[in-house]
Amino acid sequence: MINIISILLLCFGLSFFILFLYSLNKKRNSLAVPFTFLCLAIAIYITGYSLELQARNPEQFMFFLMIEFFGAPFMSGFWLLFAYKFRHRQPAPLHIALLFMIIPFLTLFLGTTNEIHHLLYTSIDFVSYKGSLLPILEKGPWYYANILYAYSVQIFGMTVFFKDWRSRGYHMKTQSFWLMFGSIWPVLVNFIYLSGGSPLNLDLTPFGLCVSGIFFYIAIFRYGFLEFQEIMKEVVFLEINEGILVLDRRNRLVDFNLACKEIFSWLDFGRIGIDIAIFPEGKKIVEQKKPEFELKLIRNRESKYYAFRRTILTEGSEALGSVYFIQDISGQKEMIRVLHDIESHDSLTEVYNRRRLMEELEKELQRLKHCGGYLSILLIDIDHFKQVNDQYGHQAGDEVLKILAGACMEKVRKTDLFGRYGGEEFLVILPEATEDNAYFVAENIRKFTENLVFWANGETIKITVSIGINTVYSNDSSLNTERLLQGVSTSLHHAKNSGRNRTSLSTGLNRLDI
Ligand code: GH3
Ligand code: MG
Ligand code: MG
Repeated sequence: MINIISILLLCFGLSFFILFLYSLNKKRNSLAVPFTFLCLAIAIYITGYSLELQARNPEQFMFFLMIEFFGAPFMSGFWLLFAYKFRHRQPAPLHIALLFMIIPFLTLFLGTTNEIHHLLYTSIDFVSYKGSLLPILEKGPWYYANILYAYSVQIFGMTVFFKDWRSRGYHMKTQSFWLMFGSIWPVLVNFIYLSGGSPLNLDLTPFGLCVSGIFFYIAIFRYGFLEFQEIMKEVVFLEINEGILVLDRRNRLVDFNLACKEIFSWLDFGRIGIDIAIFPEGKKIVEQKKPEFELKLIRNRESKYYAFRRTILTEGSEALGSVYFIQDISGQKEMIRVLHDIESHDSLTEVYNRRRLMEELEKELQRLKHCGGYLSILLIDIDHFKQVNDQYGHQAGDEVLKILAGACMEKVRKTDLFGRYGGEEFLVILPEATEDNAYFVAENIRKFTENLVFWANGETIKITVSIGINTVYSNDSSLNTERLLQGVSTSLHHAKNSGRNRTSLSTGLNRLDI
């Protein structure tokens, strides 16, 4: 009986060697690396154990037991590396990998030197059973420390596969299902063995590993776990510059790539399976109704713009979830903003140009119609500017325009709009300003300009401005830009006619006349 079991185990041991050689060939897949060594460790362990069952004397037994120490402890280490890679989509860094291997190496060391300290086995005795040699192993403290490590590692691996399986909608046709299902057995049978339930007190772990082997074969050959297509998909998924976010139909996190992780710091592989709506940005994403949308997000105190494209994942007529493709469009947005700025700003004075002023005026009139209230505008014209040009040159005239525009910008509120209406004329839009408010602003500008001193070619230039005001109310029947501008021109005209360097109201009256 023991002979048959031993031969069967030997066959499984060889199969793991074959699996080892097979995955050794699949180096392109980084998951294959820890898996390859895991197979080798299992193969050594099972083969050692099967030969141990054939031992005819204690010396032979001890020899094969030594061989096992080169396999069994390392299974846990490689299993941990394998699960780590599966979870984090990248191999464990060297220092972590070495950390995982400390206990396996210690077990190897303590196992091969057990005769001296008896930390692994306090005693090893033998009984004869139907011509076979059966060991009676009294376990020492390190044995339990190693078992604790092995159990923890195994449970970690199972949790990783379970989470992945859950995120794939508990589909059985997935690698994670078969890897998870396969990894249950060694723990299960080892537990039976430790609780004294195994026949002839045989360590059942190798048998559990054989069962695991069958499921690992299925994961590999049936679900292409080490196949090229898988690797290619993974590489494309990971490396593509576009962020990719995969959610199940209940908006639970299924997968994401590195580009996506760079956008959302809250993404973590440990959060697979969590409803992303618990994160404010995740909530914003899943609340969008349209398949294509843009979101403005704050990154390092900077506004960033992202374009999202959603594709529904279906199997037949059933919706499984959705994939979001996310692109950083901040650069494009900035370019559009710059173009818009160029389009709406005056190149000499850098304030709004006439085109922008007209757009804003139209908007303000609409707002007035809907919300009520007042709207005032000022038209500022430099007095005798032709003379400035004639006397000091066109370039000096340009400087005067630039400085005056900058100074006026400082005199208006943030909500007011100031721009160059044309030539040496400037327009100010004062939302919600009454005639009195507008008059106050206009006089402020006028008096301020009067006191300004410009320098050109070593000479001082002084200028004055005339300002026309037009104020309208929401209940005025003819609220349109043309009339508004006509009104303000009339006021300005009046200011010019009545001597310049003054402010006139739309009624054609100067304040002093009132
Ligand atoms: P007033 O308004 O007081 O009646 O006299 P004015 O001399 O300012 O009137 P007018 O409108 O006849 O002349 C405006 C002058 O402004 C004509 C033009 O040479 C000058 N001007 C218009 N645009 C610019 C500019 O971009 N740079 C310079 N340097 N001058 C300009
Ligand atoms: Mg003019
Ligand atoms: Mg003028």
